[in-house]
Amino acid sequence: MVCRAWVGALEAAQAGFRAGMANSQRFCIFCGRSGLSREHIWPEWSYRYVPKLGRAHTRMRQRSVAGISGLSDQKRYQGDVNASRIKAVCKDCNSGWMSRLEASARFTLVPLIEGKPAVMAEQRQRVLAAWVAMKSMVIEFSNAEDAVTKEDEREFLMLHMEPPPNWRIWIAKQHGLRWRTGLVRAANTIGFASEGGTKVLPDSSFAKNTQSITLGFGQLLIHAFSTRVPGLEPQPSPPMASALRKIWPLSPGFLWPAGPVITDFGIDALSVALPTLGNSLPWRPARFD
Ligand SMILES: [Zn+2]
Repeated sequence: MVCRAWVGALEAAQAGFRAGMANSQRFCIFCGRSGLSREHIWPEWSYRYVPKLGRAHTRMRQRSVAGISGLSDQKRYQGDVNASRIKAVCKDCNSGWMSRLEASARFTLVPLIEGKPAVMAEQRQRVLAAWVAMKSMVIEFSNAEDAVTKEDEREFLMLHMEPPPNWRIWIAKQHGLRWRTGLVRAANTIGFASEGGTKVLPDSSFAKNTQSITLGFGQLLIHAFSTRVPGLEPQPSPPMASALRKIWPLSPGFLWPAGPVITDFGIDALSVALPTLGNSLPWRPARFD
């Protein structure tokens, strides 16, 4: 049987982080308890390395249809994007395991944020990757209806202190200015259909099942990807591939910086690559109405 994938919904929500916006989340995304506190995306200790600039930032929302995408909404918000917080986790998680993971990751993060040389042994990659997954899972809930990660993935992270196997995480050294505190998340729905036959979704749902999160943190650029679609393996395009170094799944230990430095222009393209992923798949995108 010939199978084709189709890019469902053909709509991607791409949002620079919604600063300070309340969401409807009432229970902790990690442990299910109530009594939520607000979590900083860029931790307060990082202001020493990535100063707040005291300026407004822009938030984008993008829709794409059949691979043709365009900005449909763009707004300016007051306040620094790196002072933004998301309400999705409880106090116990925030001040407990999340705080401990952040403290461990900080030793790896600081030299990378400052663009200094570092040895990225496997254990450092694992801790950094776990921190990225933790932050990404919180970031998803700035727009809860488009969240991709399911409970089993969040439980996996808490239990093993490493990202679930369906996550891919890369890092690169960056010299962009806009991306010193940049954040873009793109989410999409991808599924399979037999030739002229039944359409099958990995989670039997039309919910978004594939996402990328691009996070600029000083001179460190992080690109995370997760999908509920079995066997979907993203490959960064050639100009970015040499700059990005995969830390999840782990690479053999490497020296940092590890490749060419990237700038705002390249990161912009990387951050919106997901909405056009359908074009690079060996299958034909199709509508489901
Ligand atoms: Zn909790």
